[in-house]
Amino acid sequence: MSTSKDDGRPSRPATRIVRSGRGQDLVGPFVNPPVVHASTVLFDSVDDMEQHRGRYSYGRYGTPTSEALETAISELEDGAGAVLCPSGLSAAVTALFSCLSAGDQLLIVDSVYGPVRRFAETMLKPLGIDIAYYDPALAADVERLFSERTRAIYAEAPGSLTFEMQDLPALAAVAHRRGALVLFDNTWATPLGFKPLAHGADLSIIAGTKYIGGHADVMIGTVAANETAWPRLKETHRAMGLHVGPDDVYLALRGLRTLAVRLPRHAQSAMVVATWLAARPEVARVLYPPLPDDPGHLLWARDMEGACGLFGVVFAGWDDERAKRFIDGLRLFGIGASWGGFESLATLAHPEPSRSATAWRPEGALVRLHIGLEDPDDLIADLAASLALVDSD
Ligand SMILES: *Cc1c(COP(=O)(O)O)cnc(C)c1O
Repeated sequence: MSTSKDDGRPSRPATRIVRSGRGQDLVGPFVNPPVVHASTVLFDSVDDMEQHRGRYSYGRYGTPTSEALETAISELEDGAGAVLCPSGLSAAVTALFSCLSAGDQLLIVDSVYGPVRRFAETMLKPLGIDIAYYDPALAADVERLFSERTRAIYAEAPGSLTFEMQDLPALAAVAHRRGALVLFDNTWATPLGFKPLAHGADLSIIAGTKYIGGHADVMIGTVAANETAWPRLKETHRAMGLHVGPDDVYLALRGLRTLAVRLPRHAQSAMVVATWLAARPEVARVLYPPLPDDPGHLLWARDMEGACGLFGVVFAGWDDERAKRFIDGLRLFGIGASWGGFESLATLAHPEPSRSATAWRPEGALVRLHIGLEDPDDLIADLAASLALVDSD
């Protein structure tokens, strides 16, 4: 499926981000693919149509626009193939449906993205799939939770809101020995910072809404799969009738091309701001695995090659009211869901209701910050000003 690999010559991630999905067959003489708005694909004769002659057959099954992004994601994730979904959540749903049937058991990390937990509870359980949640700190010990019916593990690192790392190779070794598949949500690190399939996952999910799009203007999700999981993933995606409009695919592709300059900048600025916050008297801890004293730092340093601009801050002894005044007092941080765009964001986080296997016992209110592409010194000045306001209350 790849058409843009420079045969025999190794290419590093930044080079692959620029070149992948840009084969002649997709883009012709242009740098970018056409934005193909299509439902009907025309054939020369009834025979051609009935015998499926030709590369394209129907808008839902693919166009040069969708193939360009699928090819790029598949190459970046080292996959056997990739599919596009209308949101990150629908990518998670598609990946889960591709490996579960009635009577199966699914293990989900307790720090999972909240809407995935909701999908498991409200959709998978009524379909007869048993769900169990596991402590993100479990590695090979996860085997204690396995039964004869365990078909899949759903992992995500760092965890949503609470940023725990996970030992993916250890989880995958157990899962594969027990005949289960491993799904991994790679939204935080992106394929630039982590290769889930190379670390044992069978399916890698990305909310492209975040850093792939990168500009807070598109919702899209991707799933890449290895040889084992690809046939079922492709079939499930087709059967569910999923399709992403060409303008959104194009925006994601356009965002992807600059990921290798944007992401390191987000991560560098996040490190500066996180380090500054960690030294403040108001702060109990900063949840960011690249920080040397983060509990997940060793796993992060062992497995990941990069980071991003998203982390959590626990304020010592603060109640939610105080945290709200702090967030409301910021001038350069928007208040809103999602992250991965060029702009900084701050939200009040409440992990407690979406925990069942572990307890979240913070020292005070949890604020999640997304560090955008602004000058980090300006962001620090903004944080300092709002802290001064709250401290003087
Ligand atoms: C945002 C997010 C999703 C869902 O993406 P949407 O495009 O908002 O549906 C999935 N996983 C993680 C880790 C996310 O942060």
